[in-house]
Amino acid sequence: MDKYSVLKETFGYTTFREGQEELVDAIVSGRDVLGIMPTGAGKSLCFQIPALLLPGITIVVSPLISLMKDQVASLNAAGVHAAFINSSLSENQCRKALDYAREGRYKIIYVAPERLMTEAFLSLAGAVEISMVAVDEAHCISQWGQDFRPSYQKIVDFVDALPTRPVLSAFTATATRAVKEDIQCILGLEQPLVTVTGYDRKNLYFSVEKPKDKQQELLKYLMGNKGKSGIIYCNTRKTVEELHEALVRSGYPATRYHAGLSDLERKQNQEDFIYDRSPIMVATNAFGMGIDKSNVRYVLHYNMPKDVESYYQEAGRAGRDGEPAECILYYAAKDVKINEFLIQQQENAELEREEQELLRERNYERLRKMTFYCFTNECLRDYILRYFGEYGSNYCGNCKNCLTEFQDVDVTEEAAVLLELVRSSRERYGIQAITDAAHGTVNDKVRRFGLDQNPGFGKLKERTVVRIRQILNDLLVKDYLSLTPGDYPVLKLTDRGRRFLALSREPDETNSVMAGRNATDEYRIILKLPKEREKEPRKDKPEKRKETAEVKYPQLFELLRQKRYQMAQEAHVPPYIIFSDKTLREMSTYLPQTEKEMLSINGVGTRKYEQYGEEFADSIREFMRDNQISK
Ligand code: ADP
Ligand code: MG
Ligand code: ZN
Repeated sequence: MDKYSVLKETFGYTTFREGQEELVDAIVSGRDVLGIMPTGAGKSLCFQIPALLLPGITIVVSPLISLMKDQVASLNAAGVHAAFINSSLSENQCRKALDYAREGRYKIIYVAPERLMTEAFLSLAGAVEISMVAVDEAHCISQWGQDFRPSYQKIVDFVDALPTRPVLSAFTATATRAVKEDIQCILGLEQPLVTVTGYDRKNLYFSVEKPKDKQQELLKYLMGNKGKSGIIYCNTRKTVEELHEALVRSGYPATRYHAGLSDLERKQNQEDFIYDRSPIMVATNAFGMGIDKSNVRYVLHYNMPKDVESYYQEAGRAGRDGEPAECILYYAAKDVKINEFLIQQQENAELEREEQELLRERNYERLRKMTFYCFTNECLRDYILRYFGEYGSNYCGNCKNCLTEFQDVDVTEEAAVLLELVRSSRERYGIQAITDAAHGTVNDKVRRFGLDQNPGFGKLKERTVVRIRQILNDLLVKDYLSLTPGDYPVLKLTDRGRRFLALSREPDETNSVMAGRNATDEYRIILKLPKEREKEPRKDKPEKRKETAEVKYPQLFELLRQKRYQMAQEAHVPPYIIFSDKTLREMSTYLPQTEKEMLSINGVGTRKYEQYGEEFADSIREFMRDNQISK
């Protein structure tokens, strides 16, 4: 067997996606790897294929039970012997699994990090040949990551305890530099091949809305998206409950998920969603890790999440099949407050006090970056890509900002006034005080701080308070100003802000920023503001995104979907485990009937063909006969 036949016969794919092949090659040749790829890019295959090619067993460390279960189910469906060991198994089941593993029944074993150093598991590890330890969701090992799990440190002890060192492979979707370095150092990867693939998911449309009435807005959205599957994320259980009830009352097939429900109910609801019995899921962020439902057409955040990492991971659950999907965020100022509160409340018993403080500060910083996302008027995709250290094109044509018309307003002079006000009041005050002072508002605070005596007081009295806030926000986003963490954030000048001020105070006219027209490009501050909405939609606006890829015979597609649904019910597996929508769509276009034709369809491997191929071919033949279609 080589990698291509495993790819085709076991997983049913004809080509590797970006990054996959080089990672597979490196692992098979015995080299450690670190794969950094966005959610949905196909990280699992990068360790599953080598696992089947290497002589011994592969241990996969994974943080969540649901994640393991899902992957093991998929592997079993593809004819691969795999098992998981975690706290969801009874002692008896666990012993049995370990016995089978010892007999060499499994090629791949998923295990929770807490289990690695148990006596039973170590004894197994000593008795069998382990070719690779794969660490999924590897960012959990880093305190810089958004999901730090101290138990991940056990992986290192485990690897050290093995008689021979296996290949180590690590995978994550989090690409910030600090996390990347932590993974390499803490896991002790030896000259790893580090592969970072594009973070961009071109099929996802991004948008931020600031609705006055979120619920009203959501109902309107759902009305326009009937029959589609989607996830609605809320930040509290209470909101999940209320919203879920409202949706059900309005007749939507919605279910719900949060940590306050019983295990049984959570499981039930999750399945209802996956099997498309309730295609709309209202949930807290407890939902979703490891859910690989490929036909999610929208992920709507009813509240702003705590950081861009979480947002992109959650939003990334839309459109895994590569078809167009929407990621929409409803922002309200209250969301920021709630997140700040949650950061304050965070306690991690395993950490020292100082570490706690440090973590908290980093969390505030991340929250701030998330908030800027909601305020930027630049390309939203670009903002996210830059956050992860990539460079986008500034214009993607598939986000709200790129599709909104903005006008550029030169606010260089106003910016200079504000920065000077911050400097001359010795960087001690927050956004509200500086805004009031610039606008010339006299109130308690302004008087108490002596801001009414500042030369900058009232210099922007012609501007509205809203405009001043917009400019301050823009200065924060563009890194001329920063805010200190904590309960009373204070505006500080950044290096960039200082350079700007230094230039603006140059006596030489040609360098004067205040002179506006002479400012160099870097020091010209342009605010993008949405244009007044025109009455008639413009003709030359980019066309509305295509809803789904073309299917030649939509009726057949519906038939095959029904067929898949029945088969899934009988086999007690989610529909996507049988075939993805994309696969059915190809079938409904190319009408495969023979084995060879079937195997040429994306997503049909030898094993899947044997299990399901004929039944689908039958339906296709029947459809062709009934409609007198010949190829
Ligand atoms: P990640 O762990 O990176 O979030 P997964 O490994 O769960 O992503 O894969 C996401 C989806 O992409 C799965 O449905 C998987 O079967 C599919 N996939 C992975 N590799 C390929 C490939 N080479 N061709 C087509 N589909 C693929
Ligand atoms: Mg994964
Ligand atoms: Zn864009």
